[in-house]
Amino acid sequence: MVFAVNANDFEIFMSFSDKISALFRKMDEDYAAAAERYGFICTGCTESCCQTLFYHHTLIEYTYLHAGLQTLETEDRRIIRDRALNAVSRTVNQPAGPVMCPLNQDGRCRLYDYRPMICRLHGLPHELHHPVKGICRSPGCHEFEAHHAGKPYVPFDRTPLYRQLAELETSFRQETGFCEKIKMTITEMIIHDEKKEKIK
Ligand code: SF4
Repeated sequence: MVFAVNANDFEIFMSFSDKISALFRKMDEDYAAAAERYGFICTGCTESCCQTLFYHHTLIEYTYLHAGLQTLETEDRRIIRDRALNAVSRTVNQPAGPVMCPLNQDGRCRLYDYRPMICRLHGLPHELHHPVKGICRSPGCHEFEAHHAGKPYVPFDRTPLYRQLAELETSFRQETGFCEKIKMTITEMIIHDEKKEKIK
């Protein structure tokens, strides 16, 4: 992976910033509305989704996280970078064990406003409308299933949210000329970003 968010890309990103913020707000609102109907409150749990190995695939989410990292003091970024390096070493040495996301500090996300899509949507049962397979339903997280599994399903369709993110990603890539595939964890994004930014 050789890309970096240069000044030109970031200037282009700024013209997308309102749109991606609005879409992330919509995700949060849809999630909150469905969670409220179940009476589901995520207060953190022993199987924190921040210990789940999620991959992220869009340049626009990467750049949004990059923008979030830029809001932190240099020392805080260095601490997060070191936690990310530590997470990599733990993943290599204990491949089966859970490893906490380097942005999770004392149970809270240091870049909550800048977190990517899956961090916003994880936890609730949902559906996706696939053009070939039709409607595919998925269950909630471990904590949800433990306490709310018997309740009637509250429709939560991720399809329009995925579609809008894909549309933004396509436009952003067209304007930046970026065409590499992305498959990165938050840990990898941080290490990659901090290397390019050359934090000591
Ligand atoms: S980015 Fe934030 S919400 Fe997402 S896994 Fe990391 S700490 Fe958790």
